[in-house]
Amino acid sequence: NGGGNVRVVVRVRGFLPREIDRGAECLVEMNPDTQGTKLLIPNTTDAANARTQSRKIVEEKNFIFDNSFWSHEPEDEHYAHQEDIYNALGEEFLDHNFEGYHTCIFAYGQTGSGKSYTMMGTPTQPGLIPRTCEDLFQRIESSVSPHISYTVRVSYFEVYNEHVRDLLAPPSQSSEKHPYYLKIRESPTEGPYVKDLTDLPVKNYTELLRYMRLGDASRTTASTKMNDTSSRSHAVFTIMLKQIHHDLSTDSTTERLARIRLVDLAGSERAKATEATGARLREGSNINKSLTTLGRVIAALADPRHGRVHNGGKTRSKDVVPYRDSILTWLLKDSLGGNSKTAMIACIAPSDYDETLSTLRYADQAKHIRTRAIVNQDSVS
Ligand code: ADP
Ligand code: MG
Repeated sequence: NGGGNVRVVVRVRGFLPREIDRGAECLVEMNPDTQGTKLLIPNTTDAANARTQSRKIVEEKNFIFDNSFWSHEPEDEHYAHQEDIYNALGEEFLDHNFEGYHTCIFAYGQTGSGKSYTMMGTPTQPGLIPRTCEDLFQRIESSVSPHISYTVRVSYFEVYNEHVRDLLAPPSQSSEKHPYYLKIRESPTEGPYVKDLTDLPVKNYTELLRYMRLGDASRTTASTKMNDTSSRSHAVFTIMLKQIHHDLSTDSTTERLARIRLVDLAGSERAKATEATGARLREGSNINKSLTTLGRVIAALADPRHGRVHNGGKTRSKDVVPYRDSILTWLLKDSLGGNSKTAMIACIAPSDYDETLSTLRYADQAKHIRTRAIVNQDSVS
């Protein structure tokens, strides 16, 4: 049985040039022994004063996570590189996939906190997704048993403005002017899914990486005051791994299916922080709808009363988790509270007190969620 808590890790990035320019201070400390993350309340939030005043920390907020990744100063001996994140989390989750479990890793945090860097990375500093893709095919290609065969399929969609967009659809089906939105359906056995989503067979790592890049290129991006290149959408990259085992002694065939879900969420900051207006504000409020609902789903799942049986088998209405209140939570239902081993990477900026505290509290709550993963195995003959 794969019952277990959602794995929650935190990663803090280094200063960006604009933060160095305004003389930003690092308000985050991490303890490599306890995996604790400490947030320091600065004596002033006035950027101009921060440079000249001596630093007086008035209070500390402490949190403990499964891992606290220090990616603030490359010179530090505890600096967490892209490879370290993969080794601490991605590799083990891929082990689970080969055992037949569904997994989900999602990155949460304000715009500019390092979600896309952690999930996608750059060509020279690949993140979790390309590393998972590479390791996946390395394992398949080095598998020596003639009795096991594998099939890999990929899909990639984004949730933008409470609509689902296929990121791997042929260009004729979808364009910026005439976006092609997909519908959600729910199957009794498979749960919620995106109807007619492009789902491509993949032969090797190079092909899989090409689809990842293709999807990234068609992600909806819009500039806001916060970050010019940030994406305002939730991106869900999914690999389906099927293993077919043929047992010669019994002449029986079994199939193991694993869904590898890797999610790059939109920025968690409130719409007002970006001073957005008009169309951008509407986007913000819809993004908030998915993220607010995600918050409510996490709160409901983390509630110690959740899942308990009351009054002879009847659960209280309080126990209802509002998955269906947003597109994102509906589609991630299984990953959040069902058949999946799930991890959350909370990405934080080093000098943004309010947003960082809000992200750390969110992450702290997610630690209490338990999922019930099972090995997805079927006899086919
Ligand atoms: P988000 O996706 O959360 O909006 P990004 O991943 O785009 O944020 O990161 C914002 C900026 O910070 C980018 O320029 C990115 O390259 C840089 N960055 C983020 N995390 C790291 C890191 N751990 N090391 C180096 N640069 C990083
Ligand atoms: Mg991003």
